[in-house]
Amino acid sequence: MRDEGSGKKRKTGGRAAADLTGRRFGRLVAEYPTERRDRKGSVYWHCRCDCGGETEATEDGLVFGNNLSCGCLKRENQKKVSEQLHRIDGTCVEWLEKRKSRKDNTSGFRGVYRMKNGRYRVTIGFKGDRFYLGTYSTMEEAVQVRKEAESEIHDAFVELYHSWRKRAAQDPEWGKENPLIFRVVKEQGGAYRVISSPVPADPAQSLR
Ligand SMILES: [Zn+2]
Repeated sequence: MRDEGSGKKRKTGGRAAADLTGRRFGRLVAEYPTERRDRKGSVYWHCRCDCGGETEATEDGLVFGNNLSCGCLKRENQKKVSEQLHRIDGTCVEWLEKRKSRKDNTSGFRGVYRMKNGRYRVTIGFKGDRFYLGTYSTMEEAVQVRKEAESEIHDAFVELYHSWRKRAAQDPEWGKENPLIFRVVKEQGGAYRVISSPVPADPAQSLR
């Protein structure tokens, strides 16, 4: 019987504890209650995981579905999520984050090129495309334009990626239904437009 009310009850610290012996919660099978209690008085159960691992999880954690494995499920999901990102985007976030500080071109500032006529040409790359942001007479102006584009494209992508990944790791179904989309589209005259979705809600709020 999976009905909570029909299970055998034991009194533990003024709180009725369900007998979860032999019951399955995701990959975990509850084996026996331990002496441990969490702050709310929920009993820690010794559990065996399908992967062969063992763990202790509280009755609340098991019953409410917060504990579904010894940790192997979360690790697998996180791996899937990062593999999915590489498939979707072909852009590695870690690489994007690291390269911010690198300087490797004629102006000393990434994406800003000093041309033979003395003007500065600004571009930004994303997912294999290069977007042309215009030419400017001063280095300062060019750097400013490039920085704005970095914030709208690179920083926005990294930020969306992290919030998406956080939510997708907590809720893999949501992640599957809402793949991360972040595209930069070229418009007339070399301008660009960012198309992104989803806008992940605060994970703490979304689980309420
Ligand atoms: Zn496991």
